[in-house]
Formats: sequence, C-alpha cells, structure tokens
Amino acid sequence: MKPPHFDYVRPESLEEALDVLAEHGDEAKVLAGGQSLVPMLNMRLARPAVVVDVNRIGGLDGIAADNGVVNIGALARQSACERAEVVRLRLPLMAECLPHVGHYVTRNRGTVGGSIAHGDSKAELPLALVALGGSALVRGPAGERTVPSEELFVTHYTTSLEPVELLVATIWPAASSGWGSAFEELALRAGDYALALAACTLEVRAGRVSSARVALAGPSDRPLLCQASTLLVGEPVTSELAREVGAAAQTEVEPSEGVHASAAYVRHLVGLLVERVVARASRNATEGARD
Ligand code: FAD
Repeated sequence: MKPPHFDYVRPESLEEALDVLAEHGDEAKVLAGGQSLVPMLNMRLARPAVVVDVNRIGGLDGIAADNGVVNIGALARQSACERAEVVRLRLPLMAECLPHVGHYVTRNRGTVGGSIAHGDSKAELPLALVALGGSALVRGPAGERTVPSEELFVTHYTTSLEPVELLVATIWPAASSGWGSAFEELALRAGDYALALAACTLEVRAGRVSSARVALAGPSDRPLLCQASTLLVGEPVTSELAREVGAAAQTEVEPSEGVHASAAYVRHLVGLLVERVVARASRNATEGARD
C-alpha cells in the first residue's frame, strides 16, 4: 500500500511546529519515529493533508532526573531510554517494559512521546505512565499544560491532546527507598502486541503498603488504573492478598472473544499477571531487589 498525498513540512523549532499545527488543526499529523504513523499512512488509516515532521526540533530528546521525577523529552528514542543509566536506576518499571515494545529496530526510531501520543490500548509505555502516576507536558496555542496520565488516555488510539497541541515531554515519578515496581505481559510472540499487560508500583512503610497503583492493559480500551489497588493500602502483602487483588482486577475488565485467545483465557491471564506484579513489586520494595 502507498500513503495518500499529503504536504510534508519539517519545522526547525517548537514555535514553527505549533504554528503549523495551529494553522491546519486536525488536518495535520505529527511525525515522530513514524513506527505507527507510517504504517497507518500506508494502510490509509490516516489521511492527513499535512505531515509535520518534528524530528529536527532540538531539545526534545532529553532524559533527565530532576527533583524526584525523570523528565523524558517527546523525541527521546525508546532505545536511548533503554540504554540510559538514569532510566535503569530511577525508572525500573520503564526499564522492564521497554524490551517488550516492538523490536530493537523499531525502538531505534520509535519515540517515547510517540508511543504516549499514539495511545494504543495494548502499549507498554502508556501502561507504565499510568502505573507510575506520570503525566504529559503539552504545548499549544493556549500555552503549556500538564496532563495527568489518568486524564490523558481516553480510549483506543485516542488521547485528550488537542489536534493543535504537541506533546513535548513526559514526567515519570522516580523510584525511591521503600518503593517497588513490577511489569508482566503475555504476547504470543516476542515483539507482538500483548494479550494482557499488568504493572504495579507500591510503597512499603513498616511492613505495610502505604500507597499502591495497579494498572492493566490489553482487554480494556485504555490503560486502566485498577480500583483493586485500594485493597493493598494499609496491608502487608501476602500471597493471599496478591491473589485477591488479581481476582478483583479480573472483575474490572470485559475481555472480548478474540482470534488468539478466548475472553475467559484473557480474564484468567489478567488475574495471574496482576497477582504476579503485586507480589514482585512488594518483594522489590522490601528487599530492594530489582528482578
Ligand atoms: P509516530 O508513529 O511518528 O506517531 C504515532 C502517533 O503519535 C501519530 O498519530 C502522531 O501524530 C502522534 N505523535 C507522535 N509524536 C507526537 C508528539 N510529540 N505530539 C503529538 N502527537 C505526536 N508499540 C508498543 O507499545 N508495543 C509493541 O509491542 C509494539 N510493537 C510494534 C511492532 C512493530 C513491527 C512496529 C512497526 C511498531 C510497534 N509498536 C509497538 C509501535 C512503536 O512503539 C511506535 O514507536 C510507537 O507506537 C509510536 O512512536 P513513534 O515515535 O514511532 O510515533
């Protein structure tokens, strides 16, 4: 397949890119790593009049820890994050997710901002952003705003970004002492989109959970912060409690029958993956181990 005709512009500055987006609104599409947009253009699932290639804009690919968070520029390549010491040390959850995002070659071009803006309901990085309680820094004609992850992902491939806005960075709460995380997914083949994904971040103080976020994706239309997270707060994490949280998370999704797996199997998978990430995040929090 070949893409439909479109005008191609390659702004050299953020202001220039924002002017083009303001002028063309939802007739324009931002091109970052192209690992999702280009296939969509070729399959004619996206037919923008204008493609705005932002790859030449400087200053949007930083990866830096600052005051308890890690700021990651929209154009930071997924593979650059994979190699970054600050991600390995301060964002163990992202470090665990990244090898599951497509293939090494797609991660060399694919950007963190693109994955977040694309809003695929089975994508690892949006799930990690929700599990960490991160946010997106967005620029548009009305200026700059910070969008919490729970308000960012609306439904399949749909975020709350306006067509005239550009995602410029994502902000990821960094790991601290007494804090643990874990990620699990099951895909039919390495690099495939997963049938179900789960992530957990929690903090343990004096042997009890002081805060917890359990998130899942796959059988939901967006990465879901589970109500089941509340079962953990104030409790010591035992295998029974991890199983109970998994069972509660199963009730929060409505998997549909698929070609690769039945709804019952995906629901079973959700319970299992959530149970595992809760148990492992708790171990990481108490033993400081990083699996
Ligand atoms: P692009 O493809 O350039 O853009 C994606 C979308 O986001 C477009 O709508 C674009 O307009 C918008 N956009 C991009 N940047 C911005 C911005 N700064 N501001 C506003 N809008 C923006 N992803 C996974 O998560 N898990 C997988 O298992 C997986 N497997 C893959 C397998 C293959 C073979 C391929 C080709 C891709 C796979 N991907 C997977 C997708 C890949 O991770 C993409 O990199 C990611 O989805 C989009 O990042 P990108 O930089 O390529 O964005």
